[in-house]
Amino acid sequence: MLVHQTVLSETEGECVAVEKPDGRSPVLVICEHASRTVPERFGDLGLSGEALNSHIAWDPGALAVARGISGNLDATLVYQRFSRLIYDCNRPPESPAAMPNASEIYPIPGNQLIDAAEREARTKALYVPFHRRIGDLLRNRAARGIASVIVTIHSFTPVYDGHRRDVELGILHDADDRFASRMLAAAGEAPLYNTQRNQPYGPADGVTHTLQLHGLANQLQNVMIEVRNDLIVDDVGQGVMADYLTGLIQHSLDA
Ligand SMILES: [Zn+2]
Repeated sequence: MLVHQTVLSETEGECVAVEKPDGRSPVLVICEHASRTVPERFGDLGLSGEALNSHIAWDPGALAVARGISGNLDATLVYQRFSRLIYDCNRPPESPAAMPNASEIYPIPGNQLIDAAEREARTKALYVPFHRRIGDLLRNRAARGIASVIVTIHSFTPVYDGHRRDVELGILHDADDRFASRMLAAAGEAPLYNTQRNQPYGPADGVTHTLQLHGLANQLQNVMIEVRNDLIVDDVGQGVMADYLTGLIQHSLDA
């Protein structure tokens, strides 16, 4: 591991991207696993092209759905431009899952020997600026009298460890279930998908870090949405899902 080289080169730019920074919606859309891009410095991490394109590197379709919702609502969108294989921004630095040495069935050769300096370099390059930007946006919006609602968009694989998942849409929450429960109620009224609370995983699996950091800590309503990725493989599926979720979110905002 080239610990003395910076994680991102100058040409790779900033790790965090913001779209519609002046969006008028109270909703702030966040996509931590938007990208499968691995910074040049890491090469292929010893993974096959297939693995680098798979759900272990990113949440396929999630950014497109997040963009659809952002466009529908005129909501600010924040996303991470680099793969979770280097740093998973939905995990705190102390979590082994932040820089995983294996994911599902794949060992990640390039992540086997990460020393303290390398952990710190990745944290400073990818995690800190990402969450700092979200914090800055939320403070700025609060100063303008906007009570933000945090909505994070993810996708999950239909088959995990050989098991088929029937759930199509997961509405996840941590200790504050206000927004999630309204979304679940709205989904019950317009049941287009197999929708479940805190599935295919939940807070006990450590997946609510962003919600805790920005939602619970600031008493802001929040929800994490997990979409089964076989439903959002193309423009049509992504558009249908973005529109459906927009409806649930809008209903929950109005409730
Ligand atoms: Zn995700």
